[in-house]
Amino acid sequence: MKKGIIFCVDDEKIVLNGLKTELKNSFGNNYIIETAENATEALNTIDDLLASGHEIPVIISDYAMPLIKGDELLAKVHHRSPLTLKILLTGQATIEGVTNSINNAGLFRYISKPWETHDLILSVEQAIKSYDQEIQLERQNKELRELSSSLEKKVEERTLQLQNMNNLLLEKQEEISLKNEELENHRNNLEKLVQIRTHELTLAKEKAEESEKLKSAFMANISHEIRTPMNGIIGFIELLKDQEYEKVQQYEFLENIELCSNQLMNIITDIVEISKLETNMVKPVLAECEIIRIMDSTLAMFKQTVGANSTIVLKSIFARNQIVCLTDHTKLKQILSNLISNAIKNTPYGTIELDCSILGGKEILFSVKDSGIGIPTEYHDTIFDRFRQVDTTLTRKHGGTGLGLAISKAYVELLGGKIWLESTPGVGSTFYFTIEYHPINHVEETDQRKKVDSRKGFEHITILVAEDMDHNYKYLDILLSREKMNVIRAIDGDEAVNMCKNNPKIDLVLMDVKMPKLNGFEATKKILEFRKDIPIIAQTAYAFSDDKIMALECGCVDYIAKPIKGDILKNLIYKHLAKKLSD
Ligand code: ADP
Repeated sequence: MKKGIIFCVDDEKIVLNGLKTELKNSFGNNYIIETAENATEALNTIDDLLASGHEIPVIISDYAMPLIKGDELLAKVHHRSPLTLKILLTGQATIEGVTNSINNAGLFRYISKPWETHDLILSVEQAIKSYDQEIQLERQNKELRELSSSLEKKVEERTLQLQNMNNLLLEKQEEISLKNEELENHRNNLEKLVQIRTHELTLAKEKAEESEKLKSAFMANISHEIRTPMNGIIGFIELLKDQEYEKVQQYEFLENIELCSNQLMNIITDIVEISKLETNMVKPVLAECEIIRIMDSTLAMFKQTVGANSTIVLKSIFARNQIVCLTDHTKLKQILSNLISNAIKNTPYGTIELDCSILGGKEILFSVKDSGIGIPTEYHDTIFDRFRQVDTTLTRKHGGTGLGLAISKAYVELLGGKIWLESTPGVGSTFYFTIEYHPINHVEETDQRKKVDSRKGFEHITILVAEDMDHNYKYLDILLSREKMNVIRAIDGDEAVNMCKNNPKIDLVLMDVKMPKLNGFEATKKILEFRKDIPIIAQTAYAFSDDKIMALECGCVDYIAKPIKGDILKNLIYKHLAKKLSD
């Protein structure tokens, strides 16, 4: 550490040396005593000293000096080194000079010339002490300032950090509450989904159980339905084989066999039909129909079956040819038959009314009303479902598979309508259904229809029966030969083609569809290549294929399903040979 400087300025050399000597004696060990003979020299030296890092605790200056006076010099020194203690030394200083020094240079003391050595040394000692204290104070202040500023900085940094952390926390909190909200929504959605799924599964399970129950009930019922007529058929055949019975009795047995067979056929037809409907294989075949004629003929079919205590009537005010429209005659008849048959089964006594009307020129509304046992309300919605039966004890009594209404509903929908019911137990039921109405304004009694109605004999007709199964052929042979037709047989498609080629007398071919070598469709196509006008009627037992459409596409004029009914076949033959027969 450099030694401090005690600076003395006086223009009188003797005074300056005296000062220097006295001060050196007292402070020489610890301080350097510097001198200058005028203010300018003093200021230059002071500038150098300060620049080289020296401290100047005390300056003692004479007042009366040329050019720059002591008070002015001290003011300048004060400007350069404010902490330096200034002592003015003079015998002739003005009040103004001293005041200036006090005001502008922070004067520490004023010593008169000639000075007392003791007074001078004491003053310098006090000045040095004061300077040291000031410096220490200044240092402490500086340290305090630094400390305070570093603390402030730290506080600021800390505050900033805390603020950032706070912001982060707030963000995180917001994020968490968003996530919570999301989770809550997710949980609610999941809960809802689980509820919906559980509900769906419960419904599906109930439906599956219900359908399982229905299927078992259906199987039991079907089994009963099939076994009952089979029992009749086999039983009566056994009787016929066992003994010689009277002709009348034999006829009675045969009638029973026929009844049971028809019953069996109806059941099989229903089962096949429902399967076809389930796979969308049934399409309506639209043709010109007289609605009242259809209702009339359907009613006629049931007249015999109505019990002694019941009556069945057609209420409609329309005349036969008043409603002529395009619809599927077979399906309409089937719907009416199902509803009438149900009404008869469920009306032990009372009336059954059949009615129809036209709604808004767009629909035909049919109704089958009975005053029978009625149907409880809880069955109204499900009664049209497959295999549904209200009272199985009743079904046992009258027979029935629980398919009639399901088939009717499907047919009604195919014909563009709706089906519903009104019923009160103990009062009766009315089944309603609509079909689309596509009116046709003319009623043509075609020549063909007239001719079919006015039949003539079949004597000169030759029919080729293409049939590989012996018993089927035998049946047809007997049936047609009885009508005096000339019947010849081909046992496969190939033979049918050859026979048509070689026998120009053949008037009509009854073509089995499924045959070895060449099937009926292919054989038909071949025959028509060389005999364009020959009518070929397809016969098939296939329930699931669209044989009718296939047969017509191959060129057959018509189609007949096995088992073949004699009357229907004869009608068909007559229809297609009408021209020939009338010649
Ligand atoms: P089924 O072959 O058993 O008659 P349906 O589908 O035709 O089958 O009818 C279903 C059930 O609806 C019947 O078993 C019967 O219980 C009830 N049903 C149908 N029509 C009537 C009616 N007119 N009166 C009372 N019950 C009826």
